[in-house]
Amino acid sequence: MMIDLTNVISTADKKLEVTVEPEMECFTSAMGCFPISNKKPFMLCLTNDDNKRLLISGDTTLDVTIPCDRCLEDVVIPMEISIDRIVNLSEGMILMDPDEEEDTFLKEHQLDVDRLIYDEILVHWPTKVLCRDDCKGICPVCGQNLNQRDCGCDRQVLDPRMAKFQDVFKEFKEV
Ligand SMILES: [Zn+2]
Ligand SMILES: [Zn+2]
Repeated sequence: MMIDLTNVISTADKKLEVTVEPEMECFTSAMGCFPISNKKPFMLCLTNDDNKRLLISGDTTLDVTIPCDRCLEDVVIPMEISIDRIVNLSEGMILMDPDEEEDTFLKEHQLDVDRLIYDEILVHWPTKVLCRDDCKGICPVCGQNLNQRDCGCDRQVLDPRMAKFQDVFKEFKEV
């Protein structure tokens, strides 16, 4: 969703409240595409501060579905999105930060709401995703989800370091 900023950035101390609806269906990054659900309309507040700055703020929540790091089952991660941005203004124009990347939430005098939300999701991206703290993961031999049942595979022989330890242990017992 795009919001036209022309009016608010050219009128000193103008305050604009817009109800916005996140449109993005999934969060796409180099890691893949992750479905977004439970989106709600929320209020985005745009304030022209003395023609010097534009304050952009708004809060909402949504869910992002990310696979468990161990068993790859989908995990729904609730995220609290808190948008709080400041854009510098000069003579009724947006003063772009020369260091700012090209792909930003501002395009001409349009505010790209989904881009703002995208940036927030990125900030909140969890470093670790587990379906439960004691997730047993998947069997490296047959791919069975070990939370559902144990497949009975002999998984220890897979790791040569482990096998060596077992040999030592066996020898120790035989002596
Ligand atoms: Zn899991
Ligand atoms: Zn198995």
